[in-house]
Amino acid sequence: MGSAGAVNILFRKEIAEAKEPEKVRQDRLKSEDMDSATQPQKTLPLQNEIIYGPVRSRRLGVSLGINILPFRYKLCSFNCLYCQYGWTPKPTLNLTYQMKDLPQPDEVSAALERSLQRMLRQRTKLDSITFSGNGEPTLHPDFVEIVEAAKTLRDRYLPQVKLAILSNSSTVGEKEVREALEMLDLRVMKLDAGSEELVRQLNGPAHPFYLGEIVAGLKSLRDVILQSLFVQGRVTNADPDSVALWLEKVNEIQPLLVQVYTLDRVPAERRLGKVNIPTLQWIARQVRWRAGVPAEAY
Ligand code: SF4
Repeated sequence: MGSAGAVNILFRKEIAEAKEPEKVRQDRLKSEDMDSATQPQKTLPLQNEIIYGPVRSRRLGVSLGINILPFRYKLCSFNCLYCQYGWTPKPTLNLTYQMKDLPQPDEVSAALERSLQRMLRQRTKLDSITFSGNGEPTLHPDFVEIVEAAKTLRDRYLPQVKLAILSNSSTVGEKEVREALEMLDLRVMKLDAGSEELVRQLNGPAHPFYLGEIVAGLKSLRDVILQSLFVQGRVTNADPDSVALWLEKVNEIQPLLVQVYTLDRVPAERRLGKVNIPTLQWIARQVRWRAGVPAEAY
């Protein structure tokens, strides 16, 4: 084993031994025992239009959503246990058979232009325009063209508003996707775990999936905001060992900011539970301390 390996093991051991507050431990154990029957039973309905909102986002302010994915089903390269839209029918990176269900670039531009004109007329307050919606936006084969057009429209109508994306990072290894992401003002990228095994359990990625490639892609992006969701129950990524592995990747990526949060809506897998605020704050402190990166807990 090289010295880097030894340092990593030491790093993990230190984090695992970092004192987990008693209240945090008690809440974790309580949540692991949670009975799924006590949870509400419905996930969020899918977006049935290209433009939706504006919605008030905890992280993006008042945000107008752009959905460049199908309206009738979720199209994603992940199948996260905690997804608010329920299960992904078939996690995929290959879209050839779904092309007919995707909005075309001219439809996206026309819908966005109409919305921006209306918002300007009505003087609606807006902080951001965000690519999100029914799955992973970067999977759209015309993603680059759509981003370029959205940027032109934003500059024309509401230049002060930020253009953002919520992405699961699965395509960040592709140069073309990275170039499109760089055109945006805010790149909020998902990374929930520091081992391929835990990513498989929690995010259910389509094959092939290489965590090293994702981390390298995130590292090469400018001003990445990492967004990491922590859960407990059937699968947990909030225990000290899992947090330690994840922190190694955060340290490697050196993002602009890390946002840690937990379930806000009903998850696809009902046997998952929230982690409490003290746990999120503890994780955020570890990020600041171990990776030297600003972190916010929501
Ligand atoms: S990446 Fe997002 S849309 Fe896709 S399954 Fe996970 S939470 Fe749902």
